[in-house]
Amino acid sequence: LLDVRGVTKSFGHGRRRLTAVDGVDIRVERGQTLGLVGESGCGKSTLARVVLGLERPDAGSVRFDGTDPFTLKGRELLAWRRRVQMVFQDPFASLNARMSAADLVGEPWRTHRDIVPTARERDRRVHELLSLVGLRESDAHRYPNEFSGGQRQRIGIARALALEPDLIVCDEPVSALDLSVQAQVLNVLSELRERLGVSYVFISHDLSVVRYVSDRVAVMYLGKVIEHGRADDVFDRPLHPYTAALMSSAP
Ligand code: ATP
Ligand code: MG
Repeated sequence: LLDVRGVTKSFGHGRRRLTAVDGVDIRVERGQTLGLVGESGCGKSTLARVVLGLERPDAGSVRFDGTDPFTLKGRELLAWRRRVQMVFQDPFASLNARMSAADLVGEPWRTHRDIVPTARERDRRVHELLSLVGLRESDAHRYPNEFSGGQRQRIGIARALALEPDLIVCDEPVSALDLSVQAQVLNVLSELRERLGVSYVFISHDLSVVRYVSDRVAVMYLGKVIEHGRADDVFDRPLHPYTAALMSSAP
């Protein structure tokens, strides 16, 4: 589904130039989850922004079902944008506080009108999406500040699902939630994978969460992927000393 090769991205100029992502290769197969781990500042979010098409790499290639998203324009670009969505750490920061849950979930359809043509169909789809993430029909008319953190994250997920994406990039999606709520949100994500065949790039500093959700794991260090393999192998038989150190520092 996703094939990233040799992607490099730097910021700044001259002596202040910093290579945030340095020759990274990653692959995500359809219906699979790639966990992305590594210490703060190692380039995870920058890589995620490249995958989302928000940041153009300085070098390397991104292929999504064989297509380079950075060559697309107009309708084709719009069509591609649908297919990759993002879920953030703190949905409160990304959810407009003045919009009801129903409006938030349905907002992406304003740009992509062809998906849900009529108002009636729109209401039906909003309720379907809310129930898919475990919210109630009566929640549709509530506002972000009337929800708990876990419920807000569910709205963020429902919104990401509105355009029926193939890939969702989750950047620390449960880090702001307490443990029992984390488990609920992770279950929602894994259920969507089973039911809809969604693939994920799952970024988290919490190694036990990553192990739980991932098929494959990539370990980043100073902008490079230093280890990449099946989740069980990376966790149980790390090849790189940094991975081993990272694992042993986990609680
Ligand atoms: P964290 O776990 O803390 O979220 P991260 O692995 O997501 O960290 P990034 O956000 O990708 O790290 O940042 C990687 C490096 O790139 C950091 O040193 C950061 O300061 C730098 N960086 C990221 N975005 C920009 C930008 N827009 N301009 C300048 N530097 C940036
Ligand atoms: Mg980050």
